[in-house]
Amino acid sequence: MIRPNGQVVVDNSLLRSVASCDFRGWMRHGQGYTTREEAIAAYAGQAWHEVMADYLRAEPDERLVQKFELLYHGYSNEFIPDDPKGRWFRLRWENVDAILKEWLVQHPVRGLPFAVNKNLVEVGFQVPLSDECVCGHPEKRHRHGWCQWKAKCKCQAFVHAFVFYGRLDALVTAEHDRGLYVLDHKTTGRLTQWKIEEYRHDSQMSGYVWAARQTTGSNVIGIYISAVELSSLPNSERKCLTHGAPYSECGSLHMKSQLLVYNRTQDQLDEWHATALELARRYRKLCTDSPTLDHVPQVRTQGTFHGACIFCDFKDYCAAGRPQDSTMGTLLLHEPWVPFVAEEK
Ligand code: SF4
Ligand SMILES: [Zn+2]
Ligand SMILES: [Zn+2]
Ligand SMILES: [Zn+2]
Repeated sequence: MIRPNGQVVVDNSLLRSVASCDFRGWMRHGQGYTTREEAIAAYAGQAWHEVMADYLRAEPDERLVQKFELLYHGYSNEFIPDDPKGRWFRLRWENVDAILKEWLVQHPVRGLPFAVNKNLVEVGFQVPLSDECVCGHPEKRHRHGWCQWKAKCKCQAFVHAFVFYGRLDALVTAEHDRGLYVLDHKTTGRLTQWKIEEYRHDSQMSGYVWAARQTTGSNVIGIYISAVELSSLPNSERKCLTHGAPYSECGSLHMKSQLLVYNRTQDQLDEWHATALELARRYRKLCTDSPTLDHVPQVRTQGTFHGACIFCDFKDYCAAGRPQDSTMGTLLLHEPWVPFVAEEK
């Protein structure tokens, strides 16, 4: 997002889409388009995060289940077709509710390997990525707000050009080393070894640790990821060999979740910072060079060169030749991006 004063606000999802494909970053985070399907995944992830915040505040399980129902049941009925073959059937409230209940049984707050400070749950942050002003000149060139750059700059008030926005699910203290860690809840369609490896290297983890160090001034060591798979639980009448009962009875026991912990070195954080700043600049250039939808033909599509299209919201739109006529409305939803919204990954 670019504010009217020229300040560029980025979060991890923006940086990630700009890194994968100019068109993806520009379309989602510049022009504000998404698809109904992606909006469903985002909404489910958001509802899960809100319930998890109350879980960390040690609210009783019944209240958490109730809250999830209030947040999500109606939405699920309205937008997710009751069709077992549908792509998002796994995100129907009935399925996610069963997963949540089993997850709560398996993860009592008192069994966590870290201590949660209730004041450090859902910690929003906005950290400047550099000391550059929107006028392009460094902060130290400004005096009493005015920019003194060669007496030519017309800037009258220093404003950070690039700000990194986000919200940490929590800052927790690990039992094993008494160190501060960021906690992040993640929902995913498949919690495979491949996905776990993706989390290990994920820029989001580095960005959150970097931001947590900047905002707290403490040596935040790493990150806990509490990952849960939101896939369809088995519920047929076939007998499950593991539990010796029909799947309709043991289905929720097949819920998959994992608590992962990763550290970040200073070197990784410095590199994250340099890359994030470069991507934020790239985003600003994309938006200023191509301000309106008329510029679709001049925005490049690197995603097709490295497999990013498979997981991209815009794959049907791109495959249709990026139309700007009435067909556009059948493929896309105009729902401008706002920072802070959780995403399913
Ligand atoms: S479908 Fe591929 S080319 Fe189109 S925006 Fe997504 S990543 Fe880019
Ligand atoms: Zn300035
Ligand atoms: Zn200036
Ligand atoms: Zn079973």
